Amino acid sequence: MAKIFCIANQKGGVGKTTTTVNLAAGLAKVGQRVLMVDLDPQGNATMGSGIDKRQLKLSVYDVLLESASIAEARATSEKCGYDVLGANRELAGAEVELVDVERRERRLKLALAEVDAQYDFVLIDCPPSLSMLTLNGLCAAHGVIVPMQCEYFALEGLTDLVNTIKQVHANLNKDLLIIGLLRVMFDPRITLQTQVSDQLKAHFGDKVFNSVIPRNVRLAEAPSYGLPGVVFDASARGSQAYVAFAEEMVQRIQSM
Ligand code: ATP
Ligand code: MG
Repeated sequence: MAKIFCIANQKGGVGKTTTTVNLAAGLAKVGQRVLMVDLDPQGNATMGSGIDKRQLKLSVYDVLLESASIAEARATSEKCGYDVLGANRELAGAEVELVDVERRERRLKLALAEVDAQYDFVLIDCPPSLSMLTLNGLCAAHGVIVPMQCEYFALEGLTDLVNTIKQVHANLNKDLLIIGLLRVMFDPRITLQTQVSDQLKAHFGDKVFNSVIPRNVRLAEAPSYGLPGVVFDASARGSQAYVAFAEEMVQRIQSM
């Protein structure tokens, strides 16, 4: 059975998608079978895995509306070494279309149950909101990975996310845990970042991953080639950090 993780933070542009595709590629590299689910209508994780969101015949939208199964809607990204359940603009409509549906927050969970024996990891890239889409991700997952930049306001946003996760845990998904906080776009030369990083460790202890992802331009360039950095330039510092993070995740799930 696959371990299912949401990559979530309601703050925009914090590195969720970069983390999702690079962790997926890093896990594939160390021999894990991975399904990446794009739950964001922006479709960045889809494009960033070399799948053209404009050409999708079926997507996560069809899965949420139960007009297709994941087995029908997924694609394999040959270059990246993992499967992709893609998303595009159409997904923005799902929120409204599911309004009157009972147990609408469990659609993804039910669909994943049919394929999860085929994978070691399922990674879900969430949109920058605490919407019905994110809720579907949180209901389906065993844990949440929270990428964050070590900036002053980062801690403030974390409170809302932690409260949402607690509510989902209490009411909808008792399996749900915060697996950890991942420091991304980290620049140790910036004193404030080091201070916030120390605060995070003091506050959250071993919930802070040991791996730290540096700010690295190769990670930002990779999506324009339709590749995760880990595949685009394996030697880049950022790529190596994501492979180390993949190894850390493999270790963590052994004790889950
Ligand atoms: P959104 O909330 O819009 O979904 P996001 O949280 O998924 O955004 P990303 O798209 O992953 O964030 O990253 C935001 C921007 O920062 C992108 O341009 C990405 O290439 C860049 N970026 C992410 N991580 C790094 C890094 N470690 N070093 C340099 N640039 C990075
Ligand atoms: Mg994103």
